[in-house]
Amino acid sequence: MHELEGKSAIITGASRGIGAATAREFAKLGASVVLAARTLGEIQAIASEIWAAGGQATAVACDVSRYDDVLEVVERCQQAYGRVDVLVNNAGVIEPIGPLAESDPELWGAASDINYKGVYHGLRAAIPVMLSKGGGAIVNISSGAAVSTLEGWSQYCSSKAGALSLTRNADFEYRDQGIQIVGLSPGTVATEMQVIIKASGINPVSQLDPSVHLPPETVAKAIAWLSTKDATEFAGTDVSLRDDDMQRRMGLTT
Ligand code: NAP
Repeated sequence: MHELEGKSAIITGASRGIGAATAREFAKLGASVVLAARTLGEIQAIASEIWAAGGQATAVACDVSRYDDVLEVVERCQQAYGRVDVLVNNAGVIEPIGPLAESDPELWGAASDINYKGVYHGLRAAIPVMLSKGGGAIVNISSGAAVSTLEGWSQYCSSKAGALSLTRNADFEYRDQGIQIVGLSPGTVATEMQVIIKASGINPVSQLDPSVHLPPETVAKAIAWLSTKDATEFAGTDVSLRDDDMQRRMGLTT
């Protein structure tokens, strides 16, 4: 029996890419999933697919930059499945891309509200519920950008750096109370985000051949592993999927 069987998990940004693959992977492992994203039609379709395969899934429209939306997702998970065992803070955006001094302050701030404040919203809403049931696991989807400088990515790099700091600080405050909080830096992944990056033509990431990107299904397996007790020693850190030893440890390669 897999450790996630019978557990409940919230996945933000579940309408496509890494989040959609993660919802399918968690359901395959026997978890009940709550899919959250702004595009309700997309998450409803994935939830229906999970039900048709014998799993349990709920779709809740949510903009992670709005705290009330995130709170609603947590409440719906509790109502449907009695508890919140896992939260995957995955929702994220790459734009605006471009020189900082030419950026639109509105767009720049709106992206921070998703990539950085959205992670805070997830932690703030889920941790009290997890504490009331004795613990839980949270995976924050990070990026190598959290610890890098990349041309045109002032927004993305600094908001991911803020999210990494949240991983560290939340772990520091709650690890002794049974909450396992870890970040995952997945490398480059074949999703819509990489299509946007390629189209921008800015910085070396946009020059990568799409064949080097990992499939989102591999990242989903890593997220599932990080949600289990096997990953306890990595709490408070960003784990990198670029690390071959880590991929072996997760059972992704031999
Ligand atoms: P993606 O295919 O563009 O998917 C992004 C997801 O986030 C979508 O489901 C989108 O759904 C959701 N989202 C965006 N804004 C949202 C908001 N305000 N509220 C709720 N959901 C929102 O990108 P992806 O590659 O799967 O990215 C997933 C995560 O991985 C992100 O945090 C990203 O930074 C990270 N990451 C990706 C790569 C990569 O190479 N792809 C590398 C490192 C890290 P809606 O538009 O329907 O809301």
